Amino acid sequence: MYSAEFSTGVSADAAADVDIDFRSLPKVSLHDHLDGGLRPATIIELAADVGHELPSTDPVALDQWFRESADSGSLVRYLETFEHTVAVMQTKEALFRVAKEFVEDLADDGVVYGEVRWAPEQHLSRGLTLDEAVEAVQAGLDAGVEAVAATGRPIQVGQLITAMRHADRGQEIAELALRHRDKGAVGFDIAGAEDGFPPSRFKDAFTYLAEHQFPVTIHAGEAAGVDSIVDALVSGRALRLGHGVRIAEDIQVDFAPAGDAGGEQQSPEAPGSGEGLAMVTLGRVAAWVRDRGIPLECSPSSNLQTGATAPFGEGIENHPFDLLYQTGFKVTINVDNRLMSGVTLSDEYELLVEVFDYDLDDLLEITLNAAEAAFLPLEEREALVEYITEGFQGRA
Ligand SMILES: [Zn+2]
Repeated sequence: MYSAEFSTGVSADAAADVDIDFRSLPKVSLHDHLDGGLRPATIIELAADVGHELPSTDPVALDQWFRESADSGSLVRYLETFEHTVAVMQTKEALFRVAKEFVEDLADDGVVYGEVRWAPEQHLSRGLTLDEAVEAVQAGLDAGVEAVAATGRPIQVGQLITAMRHADRGQEIAELALRHRDKGAVGFDIAGAEDGFPPSRFKDAFTYLAEHQFPVTIHAGEAAGVDSIVDALVSGRALRLGHGVRIAEDIQVDFAPAGDAGGEQQSPEAPGSGEGLAMVTLGRVAAWVRDRGIPLECSPSSNLQTGATAPFGEGIENHPFDLLYQTGFKVTINVDNRLMSGVTLSDEYELLVEVFDYDLDDLLEITLNAAEAAFLPLEEREALVEYITEGFQGRA
């Protein structure tokens, strides 16, 4: 077991001290769902094309509806949001458009490398085959990259082919992903109900992917705890963990008694104090994840909305992101679903700066965690690290 001192200084108004142009920072987006990032106006137009009924046909009201549903605390309402986005993404034209706009929106937000995940099996209701769906998304991504490059902003985007946990198409989707490797597919993921649908259900598919050296990330440690993370690592051979925030359940934090080890625990009002030392002890699983450098695709706002961080207390200040960062985990910042959470990646950076008093050096370290975790060959990751490091120079 491992113990270390951990600073619990949390700032309520640190943003006042910092003036960072978050959008201009070159960023990496590793956990971003295609069906969770549509523009409201696009949903309305696509819905009209296929005769799908929406809760509103006004872009502002529809945007609001998505956010309120995601924020409602009701899983039923949260899931209903995806029924609408998925319903309008059932043709080649729609998939192309959504994928193209996805890239444009990432580039507008300063993302220079993105991985977009989606489940092709959910896009077959109007007759597309799995391969046609993947090709349509790839064509849209390519068109987006080309359009963005024409404006002088380089961006690279790869597909993470997702299988739905509650379904039984794991092997089929794994084979689909392999058919499209070197043509845009860079990794495999499973998504949907984590609790009750463990990675071991797809054990054979994960073995097949491992035998073909194809990278895997798995949603784990979001709706279920440490056992789910272990299964993702063992059955799934996951190289990254989707969210993974509940790894913090395997970390014990003991606050030093008042007057000991540097004084009393600081109140949240003490900005950037870095005081309030605590002893941190990692359990076996947490130590494995930390020591092996397994990246965590944390998504602060989404984690709050889905209840992933509820075991640690209410509010963003109780998100274990900072505990994980300070104890040496490879944390990364992500959006999960930009439409539902009403956020951009820049917003999530700003949120963490406000809550945890991060400076530009922290943001660079966290961004490089993501660059190093990208499902890219080593040379390309090194080039990405260099590009981002240069891009962070003089941005404060
Ligand atoms: Zn996700």
